[in-house]
Amino acid sequence: MGRVAGKHRVVIVGGGFGGIRASQELAKYSDEFDITLVSDKSHFEYHAALYRVVTGRSPLEVCIPLSTIFESSPVNVVEDTIQTVYPKTKQILGKDGSKYSYDSLILALGSENAYLNVPGLKEHSFTLRSINDALRLKEHIHEIFINAAISLKNGTRQPIHIVLVGGGPTGVELSGELAIYARHMARRHRLDPNTIIIDLFESGERLLGTLDKKISEIAFERLHYLGVNIFLNTPILENRIEAAYLADMKLKTKTLIWTAGVTTNPLYARIKGLSFNATNKVLVDLSMQAKGFHDLYVIGDAAASMYSGMAQSALYDGEFVAECLRRKLHGRPIATYNPHKPIFAIPVGLGWAIVVTKIGVFRGKLGWILRRAADFRFFSSILPLQKALIAFSDGYQLSETCPICSKPNRLHSKV
Ligand SMILES: Cc1cc2nc3c(=O)[nH]c(=O)nc-3n(C[C@H](O)[C@H](O)[C@H](O)COP(=O)(O)OP(=O)(O)OC[C@H]3O[C@@H](n4cnc5c(N)ncnc54)[C@H](O)[C@@H]3O)c2cc1C
Repeated sequence: MGRVAGKHRVVIVGGGFGGIRASQELAKYSDEFDITLVSDKSHFEYHAALYRVVTGRSPLEVCIPLSTIFESSPVNVVEDTIQTVYPKTKQILGKDGSKYSYDSLILALGSENAYLNVPGLKEHSFTLRSINDALRLKEHIHEIFINAAISLKNGTRQPIHIVLVGGGPTGVELSGELAIYARHMARRHRLDPNTIIIDLFESGERLLGTLDKKISEIAFERLHYLGVNIFLNTPILENRIEAAYLADMKLKTKTLIWTAGVTTNPLYARIKGLSFNATNKVLVDLSMQAKGFHDLYVIGDAAASMYSGMAQSALYDGEFVAECLRRKLHGRPIATYNPHKPIFAIPVGLGWAIVVTKIGVFRGKLGWILRRAADFRFFSSILPLQKALIAFSDGYQLSETCPICSKPNRLHSKV
């Protein structure tokens, strides 16, 4: 990568929430910064809407091309997977030996699933961290419904049993949505909706364990109302293709969805000299530089910062780090890291959500409206208004490949 005379070269790795926001903020000062965003995908993934893809909505709301986000922007967008970081020589190495030199490097690589050393879990489970995960799970669910309908015609009954492990926000939103979607699919496939079983297992003593107890109770009641069986204090011990082994229980299921473990992107562990906290997040200083390093910034899920692990914090980090770089360039004192406490907005089944804010808790339809408003606010923060409207309305489009479910229906056109 050549140097543009007089400009400070910033390379940002990761085209997710933190990386996009940092790039867009720095782009406002393109006379001072030469900005390159390197990401392993050509698109950004809006994780908050992944569960909707599983249950029949368009993937277009989730996948926004980086070329659309950075259209007519001075940011150079490069698709590459970074393998190694050399902080001493200020270079990073891509997949095919490509090298990128920087004056400042921002790493915003996000997180990955952690399978907690449970035998068979990674190989035999489904998960929900990417669009590929969502589409794979969706295809599988349709397959089991098709097979169940065939076996019913042949006189044998093949029960449908979906098991989710992890009662955090992802497990709660996905089980709630699946409970409604599975009943709707059952009717379409001429199966008895009452024979579909959806179980949610949580190793802790309540759902949404990081939130207030009252919120856990609201989520529990809502899922119970939707027909999800909730098992608390039940860790998973082993998963095989034919059965999942849980504490005191063996379950026959072909569909185990793992949403319970998360860990920092493995690239960080390969950077010599980085320090990590007990949850494997990278220790950073007050300006989000990796502890003990200069000009190497870590933001988003991987940073050991106050509210890391949420899109809202990654977005704040992106903005903050851009401000830090500007101040440093101008020899001004560093900014103060002061993120807002994140707002939790957890959908629990078609048109219903719990929203936890500073001023109170909103639930039901109102919660859902607030949640969709937050989705739109996000899209309009990264895209021009017209494109934000398109991305938002894509979330209302049906997208079914299953020959039986692809016919238009009233249930899903409502939301
Ligand atoms: C199902 C689900 C639902 C969620 N819902 C919410 C929600 O409602 N609200 C909320 O606040 N948070 C939510 N989150 C959390 C939120 O998505 C994360 O906190 C956020 O994505 C973190 O942003 P980030 O920039 O650190 O990483 P990411 O947004 O994950 O971006 C990381 C980027 O780095 C790229 N990358 C990784 N490795 C490399 C490499 N070696 N080279 C090049 N590029 C690389 C990835 O492809 C990706 O583009 C949800 C997460 C999930 C999984």
